[in-house]
Amino acid sequence: MNYIYTKDERITGKYVSFYHLEEILKDYSFWRMLEGTSENGLPIPLYRIGEGNKRILLWSQMHGNESTTTRALVDILKLFSEQGYYFSDSQLYIIPMLNPDGANLYTRENFNKVDLNRDAINLSQKESQFLKRIFEEIKPAFCFNLHDQRTIFGVKDKPATISFLAPAVDESRSITIIRKKAMEVITKMNYNLQKLICNCVGRFDDSFNPNCTGDQFSLLGTPTILIESGFYPNDYLREQTRKYIALSILEGLKYINDNNVTGTLYQEYFQIPENRKNFCDYCIINDKNLTQRFYIQLEETLHGEKVTFSPKLLEIGNKQDYYAHHTYMLSEVYNENNCNIDNIISHILAYIEDEVKKI
Ligand SMILES: [Zn+2]
Repeated sequence: MNYIYTKDERITGKYVSFYHLEEILKDYSFWRMLEGTSENGLPIPLYRIGEGNKRILLWSQMHGNESTTTRALVDILKLFSEQGYYFSDSQLYIIPMLNPDGANLYTRENFNKVDLNRDAINLSQKESQFLKRIFEEIKPAFCFNLHDQRTIFGVKDKPATISFLAPAVDESRSITIIRKKAMEVITKMNYNLQKLICNCVGRFDDSFNPNCTGDQFSLLGTPTILIESGFYPNDYLREQTRKYIALSILEGLKYINDNNVTGTLYQEYFQIPENRKNFCDYCIINDKNLTQRFYIQLEETLHGEKVTFSPKLLEIGNKQDYYAHHTYMLSEVYNENNCNIDNIISHILAYIEDEVKKI
């Protein structure tokens, strides 16, 4: 495949509203097939590309504040429109933004505060109903369920820049043929990612929850690949991760297009290390007492059209096998002699507050 990846610079940063995306998607109206409607009345467009027999359904931003994979899909649409669509045996069905109300509000949930990824059985929301309807109508050979994960996930001592999951289909997490097919595709995507982000790819916990869309669609017989975009060093806006996501999706599509995926090559999936919640954003180590460490997490808030980050103290302690994306000695951020703990904490938070303004 000779695609040259380029980013669509018209859409960057964590906040991707429906209106902003819709403006860009006008360029691809020739692929627009039909649309659903969100709980607050916004359209949910579906794009169809190609005429091949292998139907592949991809959806992004079912969680409104998870835009990285949406930006990656925009880059893929740009690439296909400029460089041609190469996957002659495949037909893509793409829902770039399943939860436009949540995207506008920058919330995980939809307009009714329902987590759409826990609504796969109840189908109480219009967004879930739309996705299920498309799934039933096109009967996809594969699905790609696209998300973001928080900065708290790591792979050993590295951030989990991307995590994968071939969801379980029962409580005992049986390795069925459906799962094996998803695992085989993930194995190929991981192989290529290791050349770009060595040791920063994780495997998500496969506890079974049939309310989750990926588990439900796997249960219904379609291999479903969950991709979680995560943290790359100093990339809080996930513009670097976006590139790796786009390249991974293209790699997965190419593998499905070019091969008869039988699931026999699934074993290497289990060599991808499991990701863990073993990271925070900042760790400040007290020079005078090395076991006193201040663990800080950044919280995101939408202000106007911009997401801002603010530090919150998680805990003070000395956690084992726990890491931070940024580590400082206390003397670097605090040079007073006052040992009052509240005074130290407020100085640390003020220092980080100042630093994250640059994001
Ligand atoms: Zn999500």
